[in-house]
Amino acid sequence: VSLETEVLDDVEGRVDDLIELTAALIALDTTARDVHDPPRDEAPLQELLADRLREAGARIDLWEPRPDDVAGHRMTPAGLGFEGRPQLVAHLPGAGGGKSLLLNGHIDVVSSEPRERWTSDPNAAEIRHGRLYGRGACDMKGGVAAIVVAVDALSSVGARLRGDLTVCTVTDEESTGCGALAALAHGVRADASIVTEPSTLDAWVACRGALIATVTVLGRPGHAGMHHADWRDGGAVNAIDKALVIVDALRRLESEWRSREDYGHRLLPGPDIVATGISAGEWTVSYPASCRLTFHIAYVPGQADDDGWGSEVMADVTRCVDDTAAGDTWLAEHPPTIQWAPEVPPAEVDERERIVRTAVAAGQRVGRPSRPTGFHSWYDGATFTKLGSIPSIGFGPGSLDVAHTVDEFVPIDDLVDCAKALALSAIRFCGTSET
Ligand SMILES: [Zn+2]
Repeated sequence: VSLETEVLDDVEGRVDDLIELTAALIALDTTARDVHDPPRDEAPLQELLADRLREAGARIDLWEPRPDDVAGHRMTPAGLGFEGRPQLVAHLPGAGGGKSLLLNGHIDVVSSEPRERWTSDPNAAEIRHGRLYGRGACDMKGGVAAIVVAVDALSSVGARLRGDLTVCTVTDEESTGCGALAALAHGVRADASIVTEPSTLDAWVACRGALIATVTVLGRPGHAGMHHADWRDGGAVNAIDKALVIVDALRRLESEWRSREDYGHRLLPGPDIVATGISAGEWTVSYPASCRLTFHIAYVPGQADDDGWGSEVMADVTRCVDDTAAGDTWLAEHPPTIQWAPEVPPAEVDERERIVRTAVAAGQRVGRPSRPTGFHSWYDGATFTKLGSIPSIGFGPGSLDVAHTVDEFVPIDDLVDCAKALALSAIRFCGTSET
C-alpha cells in the first residue's frame, strides 16, 4: 500500500474526531474585535490546538506578540495590542532536502448577530443533512480542524517528510490582518503556504486589496422649515445634499475604473467603491451641519502602486473628491476631508507555482473539481505572499456563499476531503524519504 493510500485511509478513520474538533473550536467564542475589546476565548482555543499538535509530535511556539511587532505598519490601527490573544506556531522539522510548507488559518470569526435568527445556537455545532452548522464552521474553524487532522494522519502513518511542515494559527484576520503580520514579524517562513479558507477546495491564486475612506462634508446649520438665502448671503447649507454630490462623483470614478482594460483581471471582478456608512443630522428640524460618509474600496492587483499598495488608488479618490469640490461653490470654499483607515494589499501568485499545482492535483485526487480561482475580497494569504515572499493560496472546506451568514455551515464531506488533500499536498510538496 502506498503512503498516499495509507494516509487517505487514516483520515477516513478520523471523521468523528474531525467533526468533534470543529465543534470544540466553534464552542469557543473568538468573535472578531474592535481594537480595544477585551480578549475572549482566543487563548484557550490556541492552547487546545497546541495540545493537539504537540501530541502529533510538533514543537510548539505559543506567544503573545508585543504591540511593537506590528506598530506603525500600514495595516495596523493605532493602539493595537495582543494581550490575551496568543499566536500559535507548531513546527514539524523535516528530514532535510525538501521544500517547507506552511498551513495557516485564522481563529477569529465574525459576530453571530442577529443570533435569534439562527436555527441552532451558533456556538453549539449541530449536524443537519451532512452539514455542520455554527459560527466559524466554514470561515474557518473547519479549515483549522482539517489542518490538525491532516497532521495527525501524517504522524500516525509515520510519514517522514523531507521539508519542514509548519502549522500557524492566528487571530485578527476578520478585523485587521495583524495576527498574520505578527506571525511574519516572529519569523514564520516557508517555501509556500496553504490557508484553509472556504474555497470549496478550489485554489485562490489572486485576491483584491481594500481601502476604507471616511469623507467628511460640511454644511451650515439652519432652520429646516425656512427658505434660506444663498449661502454667500448667510443661508443654510444641507450637508447631506452636498455629500450626495460626492457619492455621485465616486460612482462615476468606479465606472471609469471598470472601463479600463488594464484594471481588468482574468479571475477577479473589477474595482468597487461601495458606500458603507452615512451619518448626519443634529436635529430633525435643522439643516445638518456635517455629513460623514464611509466607503469600502476593493481594487485589483493592476491598480497597486510600485510597492504593491493602494497609494495610487487613494490618490485617484482624493483627486476625484477635490475636483468635484472645486466645481461646487460651497464645497470649493469648504473642502471635504478624507481619512484613511489601515489598508490591506492585493496579491497574486502564478498559477504555475508548485503549491498551486500541488493543491489542485491533491483536490482532484480526492475527487474534487479543484482549479485555480480568484477571491473577490482579501485574506491572510495576501500577507504571506506579499510581505513574507511565501507564495500562498486559499484552499479549504465550505463555501464563501455561507461565510459570515446566519446558519453558516460546512459540508462534512468538505472537511474530510480537505484533510485528505492537505495531507497529500504535504507529502507531495515537502517530499518524503521514500520519494
Ligand atoms: Zn476567513
